[in-house]
Amino acid sequence: MTLPAPVSTLLSRLKESGFSAYVVGGCVRDALLGIAPHDWDICTSAIPEQMQEVFHDLHTVETGLKHGTLTVVVDHEPYEVTTFRVDGDYTDHRHPDSVCFVDNLTEDLARRDFTVNAMAWSPDTGLADPFNGQQDLADNLIRCVGEAEKRFDEDALRILRALRFASVYDFAIEPATSAALRKMAPDLSRVAGERIREELLKLLCGKAAGRILREYPEVLAEIVPEIRPMIGYDQQNHHHSYDLWEHTVRGIEGVPAEPILRLTMLLHDTGKIAARTTDEKGEGHYKGHQKYSEQIARKTAEALHLDNASRERLCNLVLHHDIPLRTESGAINTDRSFLLRRLNRFGEEDLRTLFLIHRSDRVATGYTTQEREDARLKERMAALDALLAEQPCFTLKDLAVNGRDLIAAGLKGKAVGEALQALLEAVMDGKVPNEKDALLSEIRK
Ligand code: ATP
Ligand code: MG
Repeated sequence: MTLPAPVSTLLSRLKESGFSAYVVGGCVRDALLGIAPHDWDICTSAIPEQMQEVFHDLHTVETGLKHGTLTVVVDHEPYEVTTFRVDGDYTDHRHPDSVCFVDNLTEDLARRDFTVNAMAWSPDTGLADPFNGQQDLADNLIRCVGEAEKRFDEDALRILRALRFASVYDFAIEPATSAALRKMAPDLSRVAGERIREELLKLLCGKAAGRILREYPEVLAEIVPEIRPMIGYDQQNHHHSYDLWEHTVRGIEGVPAEPILRLTMLLHDTGKIAARTTDEKGEGHYKGHQKYSEQIARKTAEALHLDNASRERLCNLVLHHDIPLRTESGAINTDRSFLLRRLNRFGEEDLRTLFLIHRSDRVATGYTTQEREDARLKERMAALDALLAEQPCFTLKDLAVNGRDLIAAGLKGKAVGEALQALLEAVMDGKVPNEKDALLSEIRK
């Protein structure tokens, strides 16, 4: 294993002072998988005061001294160094009541969640792997360290972490671990939203997200309860070949692995069941479901403590996930004024995102083919590219006149804003060129 130079330095300085020290956890797992670790965590027999002494000449941040963690900054990069510890009792099923420092690596590894996360390595000792994590890595397995049910009872977040790692690495979940996490899933309701958020978004973006969502829908339903009735729900609509949950999972698989986009697809049809009406032929209709889905998206975003910008983007995408992308005549929107009005409403980025959502949502009905929808998407994107290359006017800012020009032309108060809006629409519809004289003479008319 090749360590980054600052990590080697930190390890050797601890060792020179008589302490043992290893890289541990996710970085060891990733390095063994041949993936570049995104951060390197260190564990050591030194207690925080001793670390502070060893690193007295370096910039350190007291991130979590109580839990034994000191952040040491080397070449502007932070590294977390944590004392070997065991966790006390978990009376709240969330965090240990206390932690206890120990001088033994194996005890520290035993408190970790999964065997693949419970390995440590140092240049002079090589790999420490008391729970056979390396074998589970080779077998593509997520397995609890110790007795699974007890470990999920201690900290219910581990339930979601198991699904997250299985999704990200496309691993199976070892049967006893899988049975225990299904049983303990209701405990997820006790876990803080912000802890859930991280794991859920990573799960949704994992390469095996679809498989995990199909295998463990009830676990997801502990986080988003509106999912439960979707499982196996027959939409009784001739445009849909799949049940509502299968449609949702296909929708997620069909969009790029971007957290808010994947979350949009998870939630986009959650409002359907509340919106359902049935016609005399027994066909299900879902008019207005987008509004219900948006409400559920807002509630979910709040429960997950999403930041405001992400929450608003999510709600906007959910609410508009199936806006018409064709003109009235039925032609695929290569129509200029249609596209300009869409750009005005959504902006370029969200409009392109809505195109992606639209393709995925349609393919996920089973009623059309991937090839057909890919071709349509390509056509839409190309039309947008060509239009944007002309630097067209689609916002008030782009208009060749502004409020002051209209006031100078004699307009007052509310009429100014209304006139600007009317001019913008006329320009987008190609009725007036975006030139100052033409716009002012339009006003005089
Ligand atoms: P990532 O690559 O996403 O950072 P990671 O395995 O490093 O994955 P972290 O959340 O950074 O995950 O945690 C670092 C290590 O701490 C884990 O590898 C694991 O050994 C341990 N750990 C983290 N969370 C828990 C938990 N809830 N219960 C037990 N051990 C945990
Ligand atoms: Mg990590």
